[in-house]
Amino acid sequence: MGSLSGMTYKIRTFGDPVLLTQAAAVTDIDGKVVRIVEKMFETLYESDSGIGLAAPQVGIQRQIFVWDMDDEPLVILNPKIVESDGEWVYDEGCLSIPGLYVEMTRPKTVLMKGVDLNGNEISIEADELEARLFQHELDHLNGVLMFDRMQPEQRKQAMAQYIKITEQADPVEGIVRLRAE
Ligand SMILES: [Zn+2]
Repeated sequence: MGSLSGMTYKIRTFGDPVLLTQAAAVTDIDGKVVRIVEKMFETLYESDSGIGLAAPQVGIQRQIFVWDMDDEPLVILNPKIVESDGEWVYDEGCLSIPGLYVEMTRPKTVLMKGVDLNGNEISIEADELEARLFQHELDHLNGVLMFDRMQPEQRKQAMAQYIKITEQADPVEGIVRLRAE
C-alpha cells in the first residue's frame, strides 16, 4: 500500500507534444498494460471532474482509455467508432485543458468497438454524454484535441479564454505555455 501519489500519473496539459501524437495499438495485453490501466483509474479518480482518461493524457502513446460514469470502471483497448448518428450539443471539457468548457456539437449516438483487458472483442452503443466521452477520448488516441474540433473563430476565443485561465492559475506556467504555442 503505497501513497496515493505514487499510484497516479501526472496529467499532461495543452502544450505537451505527447497530446498531439497518434497512439499505437496494443498488441500484447500483458501485466504492464494491466498496471497502466490500474494507474490510469487512480489518476482519473484523483482528478476533480474527470469521467474519462486516455493514455496519451498521461504520456503513454497506446490506444487505451478508461472511463467511469456510474461507479463502474470500464476500459477499452484499440477502440474504433464504427457508426455515429444525430447531433448533440454539450459543454465539453478536458482534463488536459483544465478549466475550459466549450459548447460543441458532435454526433449524439455512436457504436464503438474494441477489446477489453481479456482480449475479448467488445461493442458498445452509447448515447449523449457517454457517446460524447467516447468521441472525446478516441480523439486523444489520434492526437486530436478539442481545439482542433472548433471553428476558427470559436478556437480563437477558447484559446484566449484558456490562456487567461492558465495565467490566473499559475502566472509563470501560463507564460511558458503561451510561448510554447
Ligand atoms: Zn480530453
